[in-house]
Amino acid sequence: MKLTVLGCYGPYPKAKGACSGYLLEDEDTKILIDCGNGVLSRLLEYCPDLNELDGILISHLHPDHMSDLLVLRYAVAIKKMMGNTQKSIDLYLPATPEADYARVQYNQAFDQKVLHDGMEINIKGLKISFQKTDHPIECYAMAFEKDGKKLVYSADTKYHQPLIDFAMKSDLFLCEGGILEKDRTENTPHVSAKQAGEMALAAGVKKLVLTHFYPEVGNEEFLKEAESVFISKVELAEEYKTYII
Ligand SMILES: [Zn+2]
Repeated sequence: MKLTVLGCYGPYPKAKGACSGYLLEDEDTKILIDCGNGVLSRLLEYCPDLNELDGILISHLHPDHMSDLLVLRYAVAIKKMMGNTQKSIDLYLPATPEADYARVQYNQAFDQKVLHDGMEINIKGLKISFQKTDHPIECYAMAFEKDGKKLVYSADTKYHQPLIDFAMKSDLFLCEGGILEKDRTENTPHVSAKQAGEMALAAGVKKLVLTHFYPEVGNEEFLKEAESVFISKVELAEEYKTYII
């Protein structure tokens, strides 16, 4: 499996940056994971023909994870209208908040499939499972497994024991950790970089890649926090960087 970071900021990007979006490739399989603002134009650099997408997986319906879907749907719908494709794209997403879910569909651009906790799907030999996280709206972490390799994406979450079990022994744990511990309160709906390190340690993962960075903090500070608790490999997600799993 090959994971390319299309965007790694939240809840808004840095200048010239993009919010959450990742392209997962495996042989001729292409899956888009989250589609925040700025992600579509980056996706098109790697996947100029959207027909090549085997699916789009949306962790939750906060705008920094899905707003470019509202634009991507135009590309698909217009290609269909012009006879350039017959294909709707398989779109997996939570059914709540209901108003946001209802807003996504546009002229049958997507074949919408509703996520639920514990769901498992298979896309061209890639096993994908979903686990609910602890976030103010319905949100799912995702695990991708093939040939004994495992990639887990935390999506957005507070510190969450079930997520540790879900990420257990993964080869790469892509975990949000884009705030610092000193800025986190009881009500913060995100883990800090330090907590991401703690979850990675408890899950015995081989490599932790931090993502979902608050754009106004220097990235090295996130790295320092995560490394203080997780002594193995920690990296910061970098836009356009590809990770081989
Ligand atoms: Zn969120």
